[in-house]
Amino acid sequence: MTDPSTGAGTAATTEAETVVVAIDGPAGSGKSSVSKQVARRLGYGFLDTGAAYRALAWYALDRGIDTSDSTSVLDVMGDFDYAISLDPDAYWVRVGATDVTQAIREPEVTEAVSGVARVPAVRQSVNILFRALVAASGRPGVVVEGRDITTVVAPDAPVRILLTAAPEVRAARRSAELATHDAASVAAALHRRDASDSTVVDFLTAAPGVEVVDSTHLDFEQTVDAVIGVIRTNVPSQTGAHDGS
Ligand code: C5P
Repeated sequence: MTDPSTGAGTAATTEAETVVVAIDGPAGSGKSSVSKQVARRLGYGFLDTGAAYRALAWYALDRGIDTSDSTSVLDVMGDFDYAISLDPDAYWVRVGATDVTQAIREPEVTEAVSGVARVPAVRQSVNILFRALVAASGRPGVVVEGRDITTVVAPDAPVRILLTAAPEVRAARRSAELATHDAASVAAALHRRDASDSTVVDFLTAAPGVEVVDSTHLDFEQTVDAVIGVIRTNVPSQTGAHDGS
């Protein structure tokens, strides 16, 4: 995979100047769309860490690898080369020269991704890249969203949020996104993935110092406003430049 060690020196220098907004949460909590919109409003970058795990799952499936076998996953990771855009207005994910932005959202990738994400060496490797990407973003801040951002990737971030919603609300939202699939199987797949993922990282309870934003009774814009409210409280000097509200 991409060698993230290059540029690490630069990373250390610029990282202190980049405000990291760490957002964790379960599937269907609205993390990605909310984080992207928060980034747009603040002129920040947006890093979807789940996309890295999905890209590796896509690559493993493309190569005919059994994603439940960690040895095979590690083998295939050796030549996994991927890139993720941090621009919330021009978001893409590539594996080699292939644009996989849409392909990584397919149900077969979603089914396979937990197997890939539970391999510790995979997690360590992508985490190094995430930190390097944030440091090299060239933006005043980056909204980083995933499952272990508040606890592992950026535990010292000035803003750490757990974005939650009631399980039935999350299932309904995900089902609306995947209009071609029946609601019951979407809900079952979502709960299966949460159960599997939460054996690796606890993203259902907030770690000390992590603020909970519960979007169960909030619409999209209200959730975005709630997250921006938390950012304003924690880093008042960094917000407002691009925010028309
Ligand atoms: O957020 P998204 O649903 O795209 O994440 C896909 C998968 O990537 C999750 O189900 C989880 O297995 C893994 N993941 C993770 N840690 C992160 C982000 C995602 O393990 N920080």
